[in-house]
Amino acid sequence: MKAVHLIPLADGAQARRPGLDVLEPLAVALARTLRRPCRIRPEQVDVSFSEDGVRGQYYSTAILLRLQICAEDGVSVLGVAECDLYVPVLTFVFGEAQLGGACAVVSLARLREEFYGLPPRPDLLRERLIKEAVHELGHTFGLRHCGDWRCVMASSHAVERLDVKGADFCRACREAAGIW
Ligand SMILES: [Zn+2]
Ligand SMILES: [Zn+2]
Repeated sequence: MKAVHLIPLADGAQARRPGLDVLEPLAVALARTLRRPCRIRPEQVDVSFSEDGVRGQYYSTAILLRLQICAEDGVSVLGVAECDLYVPVLTFVFGEAQLGGACAVVSLARLREEFYGLPPRPDLLRERLIKEAVHELGHTFGLRHCGDWRCVMASSHAVERLDVKGADFCRACREAAGIW
């Protein structure tokens, strides 16, 4: 059974990185949902190299390639970033993962209510981050998007969609990924 390692990602210019106040509850929730050990790696990875100066965003696919250096046998690596992520064909992504691979990345940027001009809601932020992290790690376990809107593997390109779906796999996805 693959373990999960969380790695905080730092963006050099603005020197932002997720703190333990964010990572620790995430590690606990992931261990519970994914039924496997989950730990926070002591190092951080600087993702400044992936910044697009014009877009003011960071290229998530390039970050995944960088994270491969941190991957070990039998480990899924999840990078957690404060900076906003993109892939060239989309205006933004909440995260990205290698399907059936070792690496995934998620961003807190658009999970914060403040991004939408609303007051902070730490509880909602925590819930959104868990869903997005479980979703991307689900891809590393080989799962594709699920048609069940309640399933965490349902696709969600807006926070509203993220908020209506559950934080856990449906039975079919759980079976397919061998998570018991
Ligand atoms: Zn997805
Ligand atoms: Zn499902």
